[in-house]
Amino acid sequence: MKYIENAMKLARQSNCQSDTTFFQAIEEVLTSIKPFLKKNPQYFEHNIIDRIIYPNREIRFKIEWLDDNNHIQVNNGYRVQFNNALGPYKGGVRFHPSVTPDILKFLAFEQIFKNAITGLHIGGAKGGADFDPKGKSDQEIMKFCQAFMTAFYNSIGEDIDILGGDIGVGEREVGYLFGQYKTLTNSYDSIITSKPISLGGSKGRSSATGYGLIYFTETLLEDMGETLKGKICTISGSGNVAIHAIEKLYDVGAIPVTCSDSKGTIHDPNGIDLALLKEIKLKKRSSLEAYAEERKAATYVKREDYQSGSYVWEVPCFAAFPCATQNELSGESAQKLIDNDVKIVAEGANMPTTPDGIDLFMKHKILFAPAKAANAGGVAVSVLEMSQNNSLSYMSAEEIDEKLRGIMSKIFKDIKKTCDDYCLDMDLASGANILGFKRVANAMIAQGV
Ligand code: GLU
Repeated sequence: MKYIENAMKLARQSNCQSDTTFFQAIEEVLTSIKPFLKKNPQYFEHNIIDRIIYPNREIRFKIEWLDDNNHIQVNNGYRVQFNNALGPYKGGVRFHPSVTPDILKFLAFEQIFKNAITGLHIGGAKGGADFDPKGKSDQEIMKFCQAFMTAFYNSIGEDIDILGGDIGVGEREVGYLFGQYKTLTNSYDSIITSKPISLGGSKGRSSATGYGLIYFTETLLEDMGETLKGKICTISGSGNVAIHAIEKLYDVGAIPVTCSDSKGTIHDPNGIDLALLKEIKLKKRSSLEAYAEERKAATYVKREDYQSGSYVWEVPCFAAFPCATQNELSGESAQKLIDNDVKIVAEGANMPTTPDGIDLFMKHKILFAPAKAANAGGVAVSVLEMSQNNSLSYMSAEEIDEKLRGIMSKIFKDIKKTCDDYCLDMDLASGANILGFKRVANAMIAQGV
C-alpha cells in the first residue's frame, strides 16, 4: 500500500523537516491500520488519510511575564487544535522546556485517537509553553499562568476547546489559568479540567491517569489468567502519573521498586516509600537525590553516570510502566526488559516506547498496553469533570472510581474485539489505532467536507 509513503511525503511537505516526533506518531498509526484499510476502501474514497494528518488549527503566541526580580521574561505558547470531528477539542497543557511545535503536534495527534478510544465525544488537542516551572516561586508560576491565559483565552470555550493538566501543569497551575479566564471573560465556564475541588474539579481527577493505567493492566492480565499481586513492577517518572500508579500498585498487592526523574533513578528493592516520594515530589518539589539520602536501602543512579537510556529498565520485573515522557524506552532498553523476562509493558506516558522497542515487544510476544488506551483514564475523568460542571451535580470519590474502572475495562474490551475482528492476535497497539481511527474517520465522513 502506497498510502503511507504518500501521506508521509505530504506530512513532510506541510510541516518542518524537524518535526520528527510528529512524523513518528503518524507513521506508527498509519502502518498499524493497514489490515483495516484493506477491508475498508471507503476511507480512501473520502481521502481520510490525508485529511486526518493535517491539524485543523495551530496557534502560536507570545507570553510576556514579570519574574520576582521585576525582569520581563518571554516564552512561546502553543495550542494545536488537531481534530474536532467527535466533539470539542480536548487535551492537556504542558509547561516544560522541551515543548516545541513538533512535540505538541505529536501529542495532539495522539490525543485524537486516545480520546476517541474512550468512547466519549471529544476531539483532540494539546497545548503548552517552553516554560520551566522548576525553581520558580509560587508568585512567578501565577504570573506566568495569567500571562499564558491572557495571550490565548479568546481561542477556547467550553464547547470549543477545553484545556487540561499535563507535565508541569497540576492543580495549582490549572487554578491560576482558570482564575485568569474568569477575570477576563466574567464567566465560570468549564474551559479547563483537572481543577482543584474548590473550583469545581472532580474527585479522583489527579489520580485518574495512574489508577486507570493499573486498572487497564489488571483487566488485561485477568483476561490471560494472571494478576499483579505479589509481582515486582518497575516505574519510570515521579510525577502525577507515576506516583498514582505506584499508589494503586500497592493497593492491588504489587511491589513497585523504581521511580526516576530528570537527574536519576531510584531502585528500592523492598518497595518505593510512597509517603517519602510524595513528600519530596509533591510538597518539596525537589530531586530524587533527597529520597536516596533518606532511604539508605535504596540505590540511586545518576543519569550522568548511566549512558544507555534509563537505569529503570535494567531492573528485572514482571511488569514495566514507563510513566515519564515520550521515547524514554528505547530498543536497547526493551531488549534488557525482555532478557530479564518482563511479562507486560503498559505505557503511562504518551508514546514512551520507541518504534524499535515496540517491534521487539511484538516479536517476543510481550503483552504491550499502548498509551492511547492505557493512559486514557485522565482524560476520561476530565470529561466526567465537564459533565459535573454542566449538570451542577457532583459525584463521590467512590462513584468516580467505579466509573473509571468501567471505562478502562470497556476500552480493553473494545480493543480486544477490534483485534479479534482483524486477526491481530493480542497486538493491542494496532487494535487501539484501528478503533480510534474508525470512530474519528466515520465522524469526519458523516459531517461532509
Ligand atoms: N494530559 C492528559 C493526557 O495526556 C489529560 C488531558 C486532559 O485531561 O485534557 O491525556
